[in-house]
Amino acid sequence: VNKPKVVILGAGYGGLLTAVRLQKLVGVNDAEITLINKNDYHYETTWLHEASAGTLHHDRVRYNIADVINRSKVNFVQDSVEEIKADEKKVILSNGEVTYDYLVVALGGESETFGIKGLKENAFTITSVDSSRQIREHIEYQFATYSAEADKQEERLSIVVGGAGFTGIEFLGELVNRIPQLCKEYEIEQSKVNIYCVEAAPMALPGFDPGLVSYATALLEKKGVEFNIGTAIKECTPEGVLVAKGDEEPRLIKAGTVVWAAGVRGNEVIEKSGFENIRGRVTVDSHLRMPAHEDIFILGDCSAVINEENNRPFPPTAQIAMQQAVLTAKNIASLIQGKNDLKEFTFDNKGTVCSLGEHDAIGVVFGKKLTGFSASFMKKVIDNRALFMIGGIPLVLKKGKFNIF
Ligand code: FAD
Repeated sequence: VNKPKVVILGAGYGGLLTAVRLQKLVGVNDAEITLINKNDYHYETTWLHEASAGTLHHDRVRYNIADVINRSKVNFVQDSVEEIKADEKKVILSNGEVTYDYLVVALGGESETFGIKGLKENAFTITSVDSSRQIREHIEYQFATYSAEADKQEERLSIVVGGAGFTGIEFLGELVNRIPQLCKEYEIEQSKVNIYCVEAAPMALPGFDPGLVSYATALLEKKGVEFNIGTAIKECTPEGVLVAKGDEEPRLIKAGTVVWAAGVRGNEVIEKSGFENIRGRVTVDSHLRMPAHEDIFILGDCSAVINEENNRPFPPTAQIAMQQAVLTAKNIASLIQGKNDLKEFTFDNKGTVCSLGEHDAIGVVFGKKLTGFSASFMKKVIDNRALFMIGGIPLVLKKGKFNIF
């Protein structure tokens, strides 16, 4: 019998949740499901700022894909996706190719550098376990080297974070807790360490409630962050960053570590495959399919769902990716089972919580503003819920966050 072939690309929030939901909805004989991912593990992208700062070990932010999929129903292939040939219903991998009847593209996002000179070469980004590990190790290496060198170069200890958006602020929240530990470990006076946040927009955390933004920036300033708002990074060099406010002459901020956390785009595979896109994101239809290709579903950071209230795409989040996955699993099951009663996607925004280190946060949840303990508690509930949705209680017990106080 020819079973329909479902191929899922990417085992992040969107892809892995689609796979685990689909395995429950269809029988072994109904479909052949293949999940393809670069690594044999899934990582919590929303926790990478912790691994990057070194406040949480990278093994805590990842788990084996094999532990959550039913291998009698889902065939896992560890490989990298190179290109999708939509007209031939084929996916080109680094080590082979696969054909499909239904394709789910959930390859996640990449960093957007907006063509700023030197960023790609000289700045780090918080995008994967590999990149997070590099940031943590690099900062530690700078501290260790400063301690060991005879001719002490204080700028080694300076860290520039590009961007005061969600990722930048969450990373700063971890960093200000990590620095005192590093200073103690390497016997360095904390006053020698400078943390700069450079943001081109006129305010931090655009779109957030101004009162909550002030709470966040005041807390981070108190812990040593110098905010340079309305200031653009013009260039990144091995010495640091050249920044300028408006038309001012650029000035150099010397830094041993530069982390770029200011832009996200979709996956380059989208562009390589010749799909119509805006910064690597495909504007999908109400069933999350690519226009003119009803066999291709696109989820998460690779997709753009238009918010009819303002005619702009919803920001890419894990929250939307997971809601898209739940619906896509149902819709694909319906197609496989010949019911064809496809449901339309509507985003149910439950709110957003931005962490400020392990025990503080700001957020709006179900329309209610939260700060401090209640926001931080909510953040852990959200983090644990994502684990629960994919791996149930066993995964929550293994990887969950219970350090409430
Ligand atoms: P991902 O979860 O990133 O998964 C993509 C997967 O595809 C990965 O496993 C990757 O290895 C794999 N992959 C990529 N390229 C290839 C390839 N070529 N071949 C094979 N496999 C590949 N969102 C929220 O809702 N709340 C938050 O609090 C929040 N905090 C965040 C904090 C940080 C530090 C960051 C960076 C992001 C945060 N986000 C948050 C955004 C959220 O993480 C993303 O929107 C979400 O991960 C998107 O899900 P996804 O399934 O599209 O991709």
